[in-house]
Amino acid sequence: MKRRDFLLDAARLAALTAVVPNDWRVAFRPRFSDDPFSLGVACGDPTPNSAILWTRLAPNQLEVDGGMSGIRAAVSWQVADDEQFTKIVKSGRATAAPELGYSIHVDATGLEPDRWYFYRFTSNDAVSPVGRVRTAPAPGATTPLKFGVVSCQHWEQGYYTAYGHLAKEEVDLVTHLGDYIYEYGPATITPGRPRQHASTEVRTLDQYRARYAQYKTDPSLQAAHARCPWEVVWDDHEVDNNYAGLFGENDMESEDQMRVRRAAAYQAWWEHQPVRVPKAQSWADLNITRTLEWGATARFWMIDTRQYRANQACDDGNKNVPCGNWEESSRQFMGAAEEHWLEQGLKSSKEKWQVIGNQSMAATIDSAVGPDRAISMDSWSGYPAAQKRFIDMLGKYAANRSVVLTGDNHSNWVNELRTDKGQTVATEFLGTSISSGGDGSDRSNFFNDAVAAENPHVKWQNNRRGYLVCEVNADTWRTEFRTVPYVSRPGAPVETPTKWRLTRGMLGVEKE
Ligand code: FE
Ligand code: CA
Repeated sequence: MKRRDFLLDAARLAALTAVVPNDWRVAFRPRFSDDPFSLGVACGDPTPNSAILWTRLAPNQLEVDGGMSGIRAAVSWQVADDEQFTKIVKSGRATAAPELGYSIHVDATGLEPDRWYFYRFTSNDAVSPVGRVRTAPAPGATTPLKFGVVSCQHWEQGYYTAYGHLAKEEVDLVTHLGDYIYEYGPATITPGRPRQHASTEVRTLDQYRARYAQYKTDPSLQAAHARCPWEVVWDDHEVDNNYAGLFGENDMESEDQMRVRRAAAYQAWWEHQPVRVPKAQSWADLNITRTLEWGATARFWMIDTRQYRANQACDDGNKNVPCGNWEESSRQFMGAAEEHWLEQGLKSSKEKWQVIGNQSMAATIDSAVGPDRAISMDSWSGYPAAQKRFIDMLGKYAANRSVVLTGDNHSNWVNELRTDKGQTVATEFLGTSISSGGDGSDRSNFFNDAVAAENPHVKWQNNRRGYLVCEVNADTWRTEFRTVPYVSRPGAPVETPTKWRLTRGMLGVEKE
């Protein structure tokens, strides 16, 4: 190159960099107005050699961009053997960018199977809280598993006391089955609503981000995340109450509007969860179904029963059946592709426990006493053809070694899942909400003795807030129900009202 051309090129380059706005450059020593790690840390989706480490920079949580003022900030991460970070085993750098809500998702690879580590983030002088992360056992290892099951954490309806207790349990993992946020605007403060949403109903990306930020300020939620890896799926309220595919709650939005809303909601969900979920061509089509292997002990199938389902029959709600197009066999609940994925996977499953991370209740509850049948149109029971195929595939490929874990219901249930012929093939442990529904009661009002008598497959029911703790080894599955007597004020103690046991290959569920 001639010297003159070089000088010209250099001049052009200088001119080019001069017009590149500062926002495009990464700030290696960003200055923050307040603690940028105010939303805590999280990890999830462990494999035998890796886990996703998460944080989001937000020095001012409720501002549109979390108070980041458009800067792209360099963030460093460390994984260590010890809590003091004297033996760092992995480290690296990532960039918090406005396009992804200043969220960080590090896939920390090259870790050893079946063990605990500590992790943290730094940005300039700011240091995040320390989280614990654990890898999954190696393939074939018979390591037992102890894990928590949670769902439904309506901010306004109660304190996250249950998370405070869960954060003190020795669990390897937490599965979250959805309703991590609620989309609603603030309710008028009434007794039993101790906290308030900071904005109107959320519909846009910035609004969903701010809603996640508000929820994530809760110290008990942060403590539960910092404790162990989570496995997270969504339900309806991460987008819109009882939405189905591209049908909104009130069937008021056009399909185009629902696609845009779903894209905003799904992106914000991805940004705020420690998930190993590849970004899709369009955020509106984000596929979150995935498996988690726990050695030879258990395989989790995390399913999505919202995005691909047909609209609810008979205008939703609890309806007497038959009605409308309720029985139409073409009405999907998981969607054809997801159903095929699950069936092929169960077909090739070996001896281990098959665990379905599910949203809405799989069992059918008949709430009408007498010959009439009244059932939920929003649960599996509202899609009877899909429900039959689901229960039949559990029976055909993994009878008496499959467990369905469910959220959504805001109450506790132990249900036997039975085929049309009355054969029990699996057990459903439906875990109550963290806070949704408020203080609750020892049993749901509608589930009185007469209704219970109509539903002999229901082994136990309770209407308190809390979570499940499951302990699993090759032969035995134990579920303990943890409840708190109130959530309308902080400080409730934790109780264990009941414990249940399954033995692999044996029929039915036993009370301990
Ligand atoms: Fe809920
Ligand atoms: Ca729900």
